[in-house]
Amino acid sequence: MTTRRAALAAISFAALAAGAFPAFAQESKGTVGIAMPTQSSARWISDGNSMVEQFEAAGYDTVLQYAEDDIPTQLNQVENMVSQGVDALVVAAIDGTTLSNALANAAAAGIPVIAYDRLIRDSGDVSYYATFDNFQVGVLQANSLVQCLNERFADQKPWNVELFGGSPDDNNAFFFYDGAMSVLQPMIDAGDIVVPSGQMGMDVVGTLRWDPATAQSRMDNLLSANYGDKTLHGALSPYDGLSIGILSSVKGVGYGSGDLAMPCVTGQDAEVPSVKSIVAGEQHSTVFKDTRELARVTVGMVEAVLAGGEPEINDTETYDNGVKVVPSYLLVPVPVDASNYEETLVGSGYYTAEDIQ
Ligand code: BGC
Repeated sequence: MTTRRAALAAISFAALAAGAFPAFAQESKGTVGIAMPTQSSARWISDGNSMVEQFEAAGYDTVLQYAEDDIPTQLNQVENMVSQGVDALVVAAIDGTTLSNALANAAAAGIPVIAYDRLIRDSGDVSYYATFDNFQVGVLQANSLVQCLNERFADQKPWNVELFGGSPDDNNAFFFYDGAMSVLQPMIDAGDIVVPSGQMGMDVVGTLRWDPATAQSRMDNLLSANYGDKTLHGALSPYDGLSIGILSSVKGVGYGSGDLAMPCVTGQDAEVPSVKSIVAGEQHSTVFKDTRELARVTVGMVEAVLAGGEPEINDTETYDNGVKVVPSYLLVPVPVDASNYEETLVGSGYYTAEDIQ
């Protein structure tokens, strides 16, 4: 029994013993199991906190678990939630392909499953998908990269740019990359952008588990192998953690000091170290995805499904998981750089001014 349920039961018992009917003691509407990938990135902590808060405000109990990017741990957590009999599951998968059996058990037990932020692949047992427009995230990253290249290196065309991708076991990583390349490939074809390493395509630029240290050492290698007589002008980075690794690497060889300008580096998630880096003039941009809004959409989906209804969706075409096209709700991502971080992040109450000082 969860703490909330135990507390409610204790209140009811005391009230009944006193001969009263506890009009205020509502039964929980059910328990929602929430499986999140990792606490090593602040965004997932915000996601988890927002969901617990909003589900509890809506009258649900929650079981929230993080798996520290370990696939068997997440599988185990989801299996346990199913066998404990949660009423609904919300899962942000580490590897989108590894949960099929656990979700078949959930379906057999009548437990609806919401894929959260990341699509769960190879399973017919995913009811709905709540996420952001992931292709658009990549478009925003590339647009901001190009804007920075124009501002910082207008007279140095063609621009030397290296590409970083997200984790190849995360469906989102392909959407981010494809969105970005929809902007960058025509510029590469036109000769405005050059990739000196020649490394292109998710099979070579992917970063397993979104690991910052992997991105940093790949950037080290790219610089030493390809930039002896060249200047790096930009790096497409799909996630703030990778951006911080890439920036450490370039700063290590002198970029951002003397007459070696800082290359334009993008990002995603508006994590605190990256917002600080943007304010300090290092990272150029990030993409803000309001996790409070994603939680709100997810709570709405669970409520509708448990009430036997249909949740609001706005996309029935994009997210084919290999077995079915999962009905989705896509939120709108917002580009953030030094010009709008205050209004977007502090103005919306996502951070306080002190958080990012
Ligand atoms: C999320 C991004 C996040 C990345 C790394 C992706 O699935 O959509 O917001 O940057 O995972 O955690």
